Amino acid sequence: MLEQEINTAVEQFRRLMEEQLARQLRMEQAAPAKNFSKQEKIVIGICAGDGIGPILMCEARRLMEKLLADELASGRIELREIEGLTIERRLACGQAVPDDTLAAIKACDVLLKGPTTTPKGGSMESANVALRRELDLYANVRPVSVPEEGIDWIFYRENTEGEYVLGSRGVELPGKLAMDFKVTTDAGTRRIARAAFEYAKNNGKTNVAIVTKANIMKKTDGAFSAVCHEVADEYPGIAAEDWYIDIMAANLVNKDVRSRFQVFVLPNLYGDIITDEAAQIQGGVGTAGSANIGDRYAMFEAIHGSAPRMIEEGLGEYANPSSLFRAVEMMLRHIALPQKADRLAHAMQICTVEECRVAVTGNRDGATCRDFADYVLEQL
Ligand code: NAD
Repeated sequence: MLEQEINTAVEQFRRLMEEQLARQLRMEQAAPAKNFSKQEKIVIGICAGDGIGPILMCEARRLMEKLLADELASGRIELREIEGLTIERRLACGQAVPDDTLAAIKACDVLLKGPTTTPKGGSMESANVALRRELDLYANVRPVSVPEEGIDWIFYRENTEGEYVLGSRGVELPGKLAMDFKVTTDAGTRRIARAAFEYAKNNGKTNVAIVTKANIMKKTDGAFSAVCHEVADEYPGIAAEDWYIDIMAANLVNKDVRSRFQVFVLPNLYGDIITDEAAQIQGGVGTAGSANIGDRYAMFEAIHGSAPRMIEEGLGEYANPSSLFRAVEMMLRHIALPQKADRLAHAMQICTVEECRVAVTGNRDGATCRDFADYVLEQL
């Protein structure tokens, strides 16, 4: 009986390995990234998501309508609402992203997405994990800045492999043992490493921290670090430093050393955890935006979730829209509108660092999402 269970698991492992090898091959043959500055028309898809998502998105939409008034009037940019990425619809269809919604997203160039709820337990996959895979959004990019402390970090988290790519397809011998799989491919690591080093080169950075646990996860993290160093060799002015994730987690809360870090490149799970830590240092998840970038598509969102408790307690209107505004800023840079992004960054600097006349706390003692958005819009 046990022998049979082992054989079934080994068969499953063989299939997974073949599938992952095919994925590696597809990555090696991928087409070059899109050049938005040469594109006549850009379609921005909008999915409001669940919980506080629609409240935040309403303000993000007003922001874009003001910032992009000329481009919207001329038709160079279209804002396109996409239906169906709600927890009710996803549960009804039994799909993390319903087929028609996915097709509508794929008809856009980029996506601005509100947070989406993932039910605990059950088999429903997270919409984000599904979208990252379906759109091959391999770089999760998260900037974190605390100017008064000299913190100016940017995280390049690998977004499509590591522990996540086979996260729901591990094997188990019930009551005896359970095993999950972690995957590092050469092509998958090379493209995230290149994204991080290109950013460093184009933004005058001199240091990239490669963060792994290669002393323990010798195969997967060992390969990740080795490939990052191969890429680093092509960028002579930029130092590539190896760090272990545990000491890096400590370093980020060590005020004596943390301002020396600039760019980070990390496998998926470590990136997931440490970017939330970094966002907390910046002022909480309500303040941080995130980009999920691939060569064909890109998706921009807040780093937080749908905050169901805020909705249950009637606090939705007090949610901080800064997270989604930061995502809009990243999206504008991605679609080659850096001056619009700078205008928004400048307004956010006034509203959250220099003047801070209207402050959102996430509670009734603070300003509402709408009041804060009005304040930002005034500064544009
Ligand atoms: P959460 O991020 O929704 O909330 C964590 C805490 O942050 C809560 O105290 C919440 O009130 C607060 N918060 C979040 N956004 C805020 C904002 N804009 N302003 C002020 N306070 C804010 O995390 P959770 O409770 O663990 O997850 C809730 C749901 O969201 C889950 O179903 C989870 O799977 C999903 N989720 C989705 C995404 C995404 O779509 N990108 C990311 C994380 C979690």
